[in-house]
Amino acid sequence: TDARHGRSLKVLLAGPRGFCAGVDRAIRVVEEAIRRYGAPVYVRHEIVHNRTVVEELEAQGAIFVEELDEVPADGHVVFSAHGVPKTVPAEAERRNLLYLDATCPLVSKVHREAERHYAAGGPDSRHILMIGHAGHPEVVGTMGQLPAGAVTLINDADEARSVQPADPSMLAFITQTTLSVDDTAEIVDILRERFPLIEGPKREDICYATTNRQEAVKTIAPECDLVIVIGSPNSSNSQRLREVAERSGAARALLVPRLDALDWSVLDGVGTLGITAGASAPEALVQEMLAEMAKRYTLCIEERIVKEENVTFRLPAPLG
Ligand code: SF4
Repeated sequence: TDARHGRSLKVLLAGPRGFCAGVDRAIRVVEEAIRRYGAPVYVRHEIVHNRTVVEELEAQGAIFVEELDEVPADGHVVFSAHGVPKTVPAEAERRNLLYLDATCPLVSKVHREAERHYAAGGPDSRHILMIGHAGHPEVVGTMGQLPAGAVTLINDADEARSVQPADPSMLAFITQTTLSVDDTAEIVDILRERFPLIEGPKREDICYATTNRQEAVKTIAPECDLVIVIGSPNSSNSQRLREVAERSGAARALLVPRLDALDWSVLDGVGTLGITAGASAPEALVQEMLAEMAKRYTLCIEERIVKEENVTFRLPAPLG
């Protein structure tokens, strides 16, 4: 590394990046629950998809579990920001568990949309096409707001072209909040073209944070030899940021969960480096990486902010 010292590296920092209001709120829910009720507080699923966040909360007294049967009878349990199927609070109630729901309000909004289209299965009920990625907990949670069969998942444009709904005149669509804005626009166009009577949001249900982070990385990508997206492999919005960076002209784009996962050789030959972070990645991870880079390179850091954000969400009722 000594040999490299002094070499200059231009860094373009995308803004906004990192924590969104839903992630910030979910973390505060766990911290506040621990403060009020004492440790341990159980959390069903990673509260947000980030190892560092999970480890910091574990250090404060959170215990992460995958299912409610791992929570003891008198336990407090928090549901993650991604949302949960209706069976989960029902099961918690059956077992008399004290639960707090950290589902992001922007995900809950999609849940209510789905219920409205379903209209209790009555004569106005529409079959719902959900644009999203199979297996992601948000998709499992949103589809689980309604009885099995009420929602069909559309993973990509090909599925939008081939889906054969029973009644094409009684359809609605909803989307996952963390999708690629461009891919989703294409899928929605296909659905609207094939099913002119389909109901849905004006554009899609992608949240402000996902939209802004993609727009920000798009503006820096064309100038970058490499874009590093700080985020976890299981974080949907981080994965999308990496793809958007690559498609928008970055020579290369990598997802790096945190500093210790960075292979320094990827910086060989890089003159301009772009950095962004997924909505579940703490800003401390960005700063830690920059500090380490500053030991090896003469950095010239420029932040490009495409939009100011001032969204905050209140804590759920029992804590608010
Ligand atoms: Fe909410 Fe969007 Fe953040 Fe998900 S990415 S928690 S929907 S604000």
